[in-house]
Amino acid sequence: MLATGLWLTRGRVEARERELLAQQAAVLHDNLGEQLEAINNALSILLADVRRGSHAPDGQQGLMERMRNFADAMPAVRTFSLLDAQGRVLASSAADVVGRDLSQRAYFQAAVQAGQTDALMVAQPFFGMLGGWVLMLGRSVPGPDGAFGGLLVAALDVQHFQTLLQSVRYAPDMRVSLSHGDGLRVMALGADHERDGVNLAQPGTLFTRHRASGQAASVLQGFPLPGYPPYLMALRTVQPATLRMDKPLVVAAGRPLHEVFAGWRAQAWRFAALYLLFCAAAGVGLRLMHRRQNEASAQTRLLQADQRRQQELLHRLVESLPGVLYQYQLEPDGRSHFPYASPGVADVYGLTPEQLQADAAPVFARVHPDDLPRGRVNIQESARTLADWKSEYRVILPGRGERWLSGQARPQRLDSGAVLWHGYIHDVTDQRRQALQLQETERLLQQLMNDMPVGLCMVDAQRRIYFRNRRFLQHFGYDQAAAPTLHEWALQAYPDAGYRQDVARTWSQAMAGARTQGGVIAAQPYRVTGSDGAQHVMDIGGLLFGEHFLATFQDRTEQQAQSELLHRLAYVDGLTGLANRRQFDQALQAEWRRCRRSRSPLAVLLLDIDYFKQYNDRYGHQAGDACLQAVARALRAGLARSHDLVARYGGEEFVCLLPECDAAGALHKAEDLCRAVQALGLAHAGSEAGAVVTISIGVACLVPDAEASPEALLRQADQQLYRAKGAGRNRALGASSCLQ
Ligand code: GH3
Ligand code: MG
Ligand code: MG
Repeated sequence: MLATGLWLTRGRVEARERELLAQQAAVLHDNLGEQLEAINNALSILLADVRRGSHAPDGQQGLMERMRNFADAMPAVRTFSLLDAQGRVLASSAADVVGRDLSQRAYFQAAVQAGQTDALMVAQPFFGMLGGWVLMLGRSVPGPDGAFGGLLVAALDVQHFQTLLQSVRYAPDMRVSLSHGDGLRVMALGADHERDGVNLAQPGTLFTRHRASGQAASVLQGFPLPGYPPYLMALRTVQPATLRMDKPLVVAAGRPLHEVFAGWRAQAWRFAALYLLFCAAAGVGLRLMHRRQNEASAQTRLLQADQRRQQELLHRLVESLPGVLYQYQLEPDGRSHFPYASPGVADVYGLTPEQLQADAAPVFARVHPDDLPRGRVNIQESARTLADWKSEYRVILPGRGERWLSGQARPQRLDSGAVLWHGYIHDVTDQRRQALQLQETERLLQQLMNDMPVGLCMVDAQRRIYFRNRRFLQHFGYDQAAAPTLHEWALQAYPDAGYRQDVARTWSQAMAGARTQGGVIAAQPYRVTGSDGAQHVMDIGGLLFGEHFLATFQDRTEQQAQSELLHRLAYVDGLTGLANRRQFDQALQAEWRRCRRSRSPLAVLLLDIDYFKQYNDRYGHQAGDACLQAVARALRAGLARSHDLVARYGGEEFVCLLPECDAAGALHKAEDLCRAVQALGLAHAGSEAGAVVTISIGVACLVPDAEASPEALLRQADQQLYRAKGAGRNRALGASSCLQ
């Protein structure tokens, strides 16, 4: 726009300049034309004079007189002269030139060449003898025969036109010139003081172009002469139609284009500078904007990257979460759906997030029918009160069966009236199972503690007794009401104040020891008085758990009984109360060694009830057991010596170990025993040996030495028993070697 504006302005500047120059050229043209007309008029008058009285001598004087008058009246004209056909000056306004031969002058020659004519001859200017350029205007004078008879000329002082030319210059750089129609420049005014006498009719010059155009007036751009700067120039051909000039004059007024557009250029520069300034400002502004945009977009990129990272993190978090994060929306019309559900929904409900996006029904289809009504009520309640929703409920998942879920969510009412929950649900089946197991374990532990055959009580940091087991209550009878704390317990359990102090000291030492021994309170005997006044000697120890402790109470007498019981279990036959096989074996080994040292005999009796199978069959197994017990009693009664041992060997077989008893003594003893059993009189209808229960006995006896062994002794007794059975039973038999 700026360029177009400047271009248009330039156009206007040029147009205005063209107009001005054209005007000035017109002024010159008009003025010069008028002067030429005036001179031509004078020449016409003089010509008429010449034709009227050219032969009268006074006439010549009169002519010259008029010539002088005209020359005086016309400052532009130096002289008027009349030349005859041979070029001699016949008359002139300047008297000194009369009689001169000017036949060789170019203008005369040209006039002769042109012949007789009415036209105004405009001759090629020449540099006059008096200095300055001279322009000759002439009219041919017809001779008597009508041919060329002479020439009437007016010599114009070109210098005279300087004022005129000067008057039209409106700028110091303006050039104004006057030239002959053939191209000779006779006057040029301008800043650079042009040379005169230059031929403008050169190819390409403004003059040539103007003349070639055939126009009377033209305004052109171009070079006045080769080597000149370009000019804008108005040119006018001065050739008034009335004068019939054979050659015209040409006036020109012009200015160098450079100067014409100087103002415009300055303005253009100003505009350009402003424009550049504006561009620079805009550039800086754009750059700043660009930078800000860059910064903003860099910031945006950073933010986006940050956001992506956060999203990724969130995504990973959500993915690794053992449950589902979700949004659940309940519309006012009762429809509901899950706008969002994390992938964990597959674990929790066995459904994909997409399945729930439009409708939540598949979730409700999974909820256990027993939990569904309560679940719906909970949701409605949360929607109504906008209180957090919390629930534990069961679902039935395909292929996985019943699972427990726990969920919680925060509701938010939307503008549409819908309620949107943001929540989290996860599977708690395993936790519930563990909790149940824990409860069960706790219950078992409680039961175990209660049923322990040891008195137990638990005491807390405030020394309150918060647990007592059954055995504790059986021992002492101090329940929660009677002794809620250790203090009350001590007052009643240790009524003697002195002993109570001893107990307190011993106990606190035991507690201090427990702290260095992994919490085990070493058991020590205490004399405890029960609520019924009974005295118990108790071993009291326990375990320390932080500030709590467990106390154990074990009755010392009871303990004794227990160890005896154990012994009995290990060494005594349960049915008969006799020593068992294990005890017999140990006794045999011991007596063997002892008798071997003392070289005293050791006898063994092996006893077996006769036809006992039949007894069992007839009287039953229980009667059989009773029979066994009765026989055992008889055997024990029959063996009075303290170091004799009678043991149940197995089934209905017994064995007697008789240290320091020789064979005869042993056999005698065996026979006594047979009789003792028979004397019991236990009816045995199935026996072939008699009507009552009888026994057979095998006797073996030897003095232990290196060759013999306890096993061999038993083997012998067994062989003798076998013999006694074979011999009719109800008898005792001994090895003959033994008896000898
Ligand atoms: P024999 O005169 O040859 O010894 O005849 P028997 O019937 O006694 O024969 P045997 O020794 O083979 O039979 C032993 C029977 O003793 C077999 C079993 O029913 C019975 N018996 C073994 N131990 C017990 C027990 O502890 N109680 C009872 N009631 N019966 C027992
Ligand atoms: Mg037997
Ligand atoms: Mg038997």
